[in-house]
Amino acid sequence: MKYWVLYFFAIFAGLLIMPIIASNSMATEESPKISVFIGGETKEISIEEYTLRVLIANNAACENAESKKALAVSARSCATYFSVYGCKHDEFDACDDGNCCIKLGSPEDINRETFSELLSVCEETKGEILTLDSMPAIALFTRCASKGTRQCEEFPYLIPVPEATRCETHKTECEYEIENELGSLLGNTEEHPPYLVFNENEKCELAILGGNIIDGNEVATLLSLPTTEFLLTIEESTLNATCYGIGHGYGLNLCGADMLAENGMDYKNILKHYYPKLEINKIYNN
Ligand SMILES: [Zn+2]
Ligand SMILES: [Zn+2]
Repeated sequence: MKYWVLYFFAIFAGLLIMPIIASNSMATEESPKISVFIGGETKEISIEEYTLRVLIANNAACENAESKKALAVSARSCATYFSVYGCKHDEFDACDDGNCCIKLGSPEDINRETFSELLSVCEETKGEILTLDSMPAIALFTRCASKGTRQCEEFPYLIPVPEATRCETHKTECEYEIENELGSLLGNTEEHPPYLVFNENEKCELAILGGNIIDGNEVATLLSLPTTEFLLTIEESTLNATCYGIGHGYGLNLCGADMLAENGMDYKNILKHYYPKLEINKIYNN
């Protein structure tokens, strides 16, 4: 059978089944499976194991138990979404590469104490996912969105959510010699000083460099900056870039979630804060 036939069938089956299993009254008993390309081979693992592996991979990103629970629900939602709709791969639902799908960790990466802590985070949120109209949503998460998250074009329910202050912890400072590295990009900087246009939550939408209009994402790539929340200044022959945040900036902001949790917010309210368009649903118990 051709892949598109399987794909079509998977979507059709998903559309038929998911509204049922997403409703509380019809919660199933067992964790569904997901096929994952992990450590060089394809494996069928439970969605609970997938969730635990995401928590392991992001263990350093959030410290508070409530922000870890929020991450668990996000990760479980993404896994459920992948298992129903697939991702960019034909042979499996998702891979373990953070630059392609979502990075997954392994129990060997952490000590026994951390492992049992993360296991209980999974247990306490077991079966809970985020849904849109009772269908699983791809509830993405990001390491640090600094001044706030971004509007996602592909999944419009991931809307921009601002933070009160700019994160000073996840800040990257870079310096470039204009003459050697960026001469052709910046042109005559006295005639054409860099000019930035920002969109929601201080992200650079576009830049005017050397008289040319360049997309903010492209500038971040050209300067190897981790996000599009950056400022540029010129001092004599040097271009200084200050960049805030880490990651794509969509969905749950782990850095912000940690701060909200430290101020006493529980994981359900953290999820409502970052995903105001989504609902929390329990799709299985065991
Ligand atoms: Zn992938
Ligand atoms: Zn941060």
